[in-house]
Amino acid sequence: MKQRPDVCIAGAGIIGLTLALALDRRNLSVLVLSAGNALAEASVAAAGMLAVNDPENPAELLALSHYSRSLYPALLASLNTRAHVPVSFQTHSTLQVLPSTATDIASPLHALLPHAAPGDLRVLSLAEESLDPRELAPALLVAVRASRVRLHTTTPVHSVHETANSVSIKTVAGDMEAGLFVDCTGAWSLSSAHLPSLRIVPRKGQMLTVPTPASLAQGIVLRSHAVYMVPRLHGSRAGQTLIGATIEDAGFDRSLDDRQLHALLEAAAALLPELRDAPILDTWSGLRPATDDLLPALGRLPGSRRLFVASGHYRNGILLAPGSAEVLAQSMLGEAPAVPLHAFTPGRFAHPPS
Ligand SMILES: Cc1cc2nc3c(=O)[nH]c(=O)nc-3n(C[C@H](O)[C@H](O)[C@H](O)COP(=O)(O)OP(=O)(O)OC[C@H]3O[C@@H](n4cnc5c(N)ncnc54)[C@H](O)[C@@H]3O)c2cc1C
Repeated sequence: MKQRPDVCIAGAGIIGLTLALALDRRNLSVLVLSAGNALAEASVAAAGMLAVNDPENPAELLALSHYSRSLYPALLASLNTRAHVPVSFQTHSTLQVLPSTATDIASPLHALLPHAAPGDLRVLSLAEESLDPRELAPALLVAVRASRVRLHTTTPVHSVHETANSVSIKTVAGDMEAGLFVDCTGAWSLSSAHLPSLRIVPRKGQMLTVPTPASLAQGIVLRSHAVYMVPRLHGSRAGQTLIGATIEDAGFDRSLDDRQLHALLEAAAALLPELRDAPILDTWSGLRPATDDLLPALGRLPGSRRLFVASGHYRNGILLAPGSAEVLAQSMLGEAPAVPLHAFTPGRFAHPPS
């Protein structure tokens, strides 16, 4: 291994790679080690909604969500110039189904989408974007390869040990040293070896695609408590709509279950009857990384000087990646983070509120 990097990042999902670029911009030398190929796990399974205003999100996420969303236009512009791979938002508008009692703020679904199920379903119209993570992934990878970041794939980290002046890292390719270490391994988190009460566990999500129904063809995302539909307008899935997603506590099992996939399609058809009997074109699953309070863990591990974690982004890792990368890079360099991080400090699990 060449000269000791300032920072070693384990994990080459969207969280690890956006952090690597943020640290590289600050002139730190960065080595990324990934167990498998880069951007091959949750980060390419995602629907790609930038769901800042999803009522299912914990309130503590709002400031980081807005901040992260605000960084997306510059991130996409820099990918387009640096990587020459065009990535743009696929949709700009989301209809969020609300309880039928929300008559003061919401409009009847049927008034906005004439093919929707008749009845008293009400929706809020949100200016929220989505993008295709499978378009973002190759562009991000080209940008990483064009930077000074070193990326070693198929190199899992086995364990990490902090010494007075460095971090010693055991990998499948031998031992190495770094100044600082960041755990960005998503659902495979290494941090519980240092802080057992910081549990980051996989939550399986199954998804499917169908031909885009007429109601969503102009680029509207439709989302309820039970299901979401995200049309792809351009790229390799143009003309298809993603329907997702299950949330399952199934360990590292990624198998697909026909019954659950059909239940998702039925939930979608209950909102948009045009989807009844729609042919399923594709199916897949991914593992979201979830902490006990469903908020990310971002920052230094308690009792440590050199070990950091950026994981547990659960249902919002695509939305939160650029913001998480910036605030973690800022706090690693002793700068004031752009948004307060106390809700995300890993130490909250060492000292849970009584
Ligand atoms: C079905 C589904 C739908 C989703 N929809 C959305 C959405 O619409 N919007 C949104 O914002 N988010 C969404 N998400 C969530 C989002 O995908 C995740 O929060 C995000 O991708 C997590 O990124 P990550 O980099 O932490 O993890 P991952 O992308 O899983 O990457 C983990 C990395 O760690 C590596 N690794 C594992 N173990 C080791 C080790 N020991 N040593 C070195 N490397 C290791 C892996 O090889 C991989 O490179 C969805 C997720 C799923 C599953």
